[in-house]
Amino acid sequence: MDERDKMLSGACLCGAVRFTAKGRFGAVSVCHCAQCRRWHGAPGSYTSVRRDRLVFQNESGLAWYRSSDRARRGFCRDCGTSLFWEETGAPHLALAMGCLDRPTGLREQLHIFTAHKGDYYDIADGLHQWPESHTAGA
Ligand SMILES: [Zn+2]
Repeated sequence: MDERDKMLSGACLCGAVRFTAKGRFGAVSVCHCAQCRRWHGAPGSYTSVRRDRLVFQNESGLAWYRSSDRARRGFCRDCGTSLFWEETGAPHLALAMGCLDRPTGLREQLHIFTAHKGDYYDIADGLHQWPESHTAGA
């Protein structure tokens, strides 16, 4: 499916962050790393889009947390919604699927960092599981 002209919109819980993104969206991955589990309170599902394709209608609540040497996480400082994961210098940004408005037309496609998953649930949807990142060295 050609996703080049797909348009998605998203927002935080209180509306202090609202955005649209138009472009090609990456495969939806479910991340089970300990950072995502803490940040979302659950595994985190993400798609990705070019940073320059993201347009904010409201970013008054947008704040960033430097979560590692190589990445930062965007969230709403007013309501706490988890929104973005951004690798320093990368052209693409990861969008948390949970903040997107329906219909997204997207489906989860793979699980990553499953070696770090919580011990309170099973992954039983048959999608491919990568013990670490699905891109070597990332
Ligand atoms: Zn908010």
